[in-house]
Amino acid sequence: MVKKIAILGGGESGIGTAILALKKGYEVFLSDKGKIKPKYKEVLKNIEIDWEEEQHTEEKIFQADVVMKSPGIPDKAPLVVKLKEKQIPVVSEIEFASWFTKTPIIGITGSNGKTTVTNLIQHVLKEGGINSEMGGNVGNSFAKMVAEGSTDWYVLELSSFQLDGIEKFKPEIAILTNITPDHLDRYEYKLENYVASKFRITENQTEEDYFIYDADDEIIAKKLKQTPIKAQKLPFSLEKKLENGAYIENENIVVKINNTKFTMPTKDLALEGKHNTKNAMAAATVAQLLRIRKQTIRESMANFQGVEHRLEKVLKINNVLYINDSKATNVNATYYALESMETDTVWIVGGVDKGNVYNELLPLVNEKVKAIICLGLDNDKIVNAFGNIVDNMVETASMKDAVQIAYRLADKGDTVLLSPACASFDLFENYEDRGRQFKEAVRNL
Ligand code: ADP
Repeated sequence: MVKKIAILGGGESGIGTAILALKKGYEVFLSDKGKIKPKYKEVLKNIEIDWEEEQHTEEKIFQADVVMKSPGIPDKAPLVVKLKEKQIPVVSEIEFASWFTKTPIIGITGSNGKTTVTNLIQHVLKEGGINSEMGGNVGNSFAKMVAEGSTDWYVLELSSFQLDGIEKFKPEIAILTNITPDHLDRYEYKLENYVASKFRITENQTEEDYFIYDADDEIIAKKLKQTPIKAQKLPFSLEKKLENGAYIENENIVVKINNTKFTMPTKDLALEGKHNTKNAMAAATVAQLLRIRKQTIRESMANFQGVEHRLEKVLKINNVLYINDSKATNVNATYYALESMETDTVWIVGGVDKGNVYNELLPLVNEKVKAIICLGLDNDKIVNAFGNIVDNMVETASMKDAVQIAYRLADKGDTVLLSPACASFDLFENYEDRGRQFKEAVRNL
């Protein structure tokens, strides 16, 4: 009998699932409560499946044997609740896609650093001659990659929402970069729910698999004490030497796995900042597990170009460096950005507050920031948090103005840093739009 799948959401993961399900002989119905983007509509028109937008026709959806729910749809959405009552299985796209591939997976999750680590690993694997494809929460959906062909490894960025909908999915190598409170609105405002969701990356792993994680992260350490895991643990740490795993010794990254040892001077890393040293340790651990030549690992970590909108160096004008860190949408990401600043900094910050607590930034701001430009519709919290310690504080709701003000305030040798610590949708379409507008304004100076 032909199996039926209903797909909720017509974005990247919905379309990917539709393509894969069709290929695997499913009868597909895709339903999006909102408007489907034109580029995805084009695909739908070409693959001849039944689909709808701006509504959910429940009679049709309830006929499905399995439902794929896109990560953007919360579990408490009324339709999802009804599906659960009817005991129709609801899975995420990565779970569904994993049913159709035996290719080993490197899965990367965490509150910050996912995209950077995912791209860095893909880069090192490519340079090391390993055939791999990158996707998931970044770029192509996993389902689409599985539908389109074969490779030797998948390198997947995984959000907590994607992990929420898994049953059997497991990566051979799992990476948990760090955990800081984020997206709590989707987790009943309970940190433990969010932590549990991140840890699902390892729940189906066996003794033959590997779990790479930040040993300095207190939230991770606490969870590991409560819940033993089966995979072999390979932690990384900036603070202590480890028996097995990655650590710093004499300003070198050392990765020790059983009897093998990899070393590389931290000064040779392409990406700056302590957080990026951690990201590099995670990637080097993977590379070492895959037995890539040590010299190749070193070279590829030294020539990595970085990822757009993550501490991206834009231009130097009059000896002032402009850095685009638009992807810093939470306080923790901005913390690491400020920490990596080596000169006096004019800091552009603000946007939609996600329940931010700024206390942890105070010492860094005190030490490094000479002027603050608030770029948001509502800047009260930022003004209150830093008004006492930074004399020079300006508010604007225009990126062009923000950059021009920064240009006037910065002296030779300073850095202008866009690292908003906030979401972007008060003034911009998304963080990419914010970053691009910043770069354009800088180039027009
Ligand atoms: P994600 O994909 O998890 O959102 P990104 O790699 O896109 O992470 O980086 C998001 C932001 O977090 C950037 O501003 C970046 O500078 C910062 N960041 C990157 N790696 C880390 C890390 N290991 N810890 C904290 N912040 C980080």
